[in-house]
Amino acid sequence: MDDARLDVIKFAKKLNSSNLSPLRSGNISIRANQNNKEGFFITPSGIKYDQLKEDNIVFLELEEKINEEKIRREGINPSSEWRFHQDIYIERIDAKAIVHAHSTHATAVSAHRKNIPAFHYMIALAGGNDIKCAQYATFGTKELSENILHALKKRKACLMSNHGQVAFGKNLDEAFELAEEIENICHQYINTIKLGIPKILSFEEMNKILEKTKNYKKS
Ligand code: 13P
Ligand code: ZN
Repeated sequence: MDDARLDVIKFAKKLNSSNLSPLRSGNISIRANQNNKEGFFITPSGIKYDQLKEDNIVFLELEEKINEEKIRREGINPSSEWRFHQDIYIERIDAKAIVHAHSTHATAVSAHRKNIPAFHYMIALAGGNDIKCAQYATFGTKELSENILHALKKRKACLMSNHGQVAFGKNLDEAFELAEEIENICHQYINTIKLGIPKILSFEEMNKILEKTKNYKKS
């Protein structure tokens, strides 16, 4: 079995088993090459993750017209969100894997269509001094993809209005862990605002933290 496809299946199952995204929600992809074509492997649309087989995982290229044509011609069934996965890989060379999840607390915060301010220094994990919330657009649309790219400027994760969250990384392990961190931060934020308006870390402090987290070693 192809390693990249195996990885996609492994992390798609983990979406359910770790409770990050329930049932058929969310999707997973990994940047890859096939027959000398640059592209990505992505989960199929609407298939239960525990039933995933290697040939359900779809390879798409980095060109929208080619992908639309391929989907029509071959009747393949990529995730309905293939456009934003494709556009993140085109726009962000640092994106090697992407996790989209309807995690409970991130989804709750996303329904308020607000950026999360630096109430905690861990906000820096997403890459900036806040976590942006992409403007609302219907799932699967180019508009949603454009809104996500905008919210991901200088960031590796964002919320998606009335929907959930998306995170990317240099591999699926990293992207998945970041999505889990975003979910924790959203949980903490919901508790924080229950107590009133929190104190927010200053730009200067967050810049210091962003510098420090660059050198933070993970094992
Ligand atoms: P897919 O099954 O088509 O990937 O849809 C799940 C989802 O989360 C859509 O936003
Ligand atoms: Zn979704």
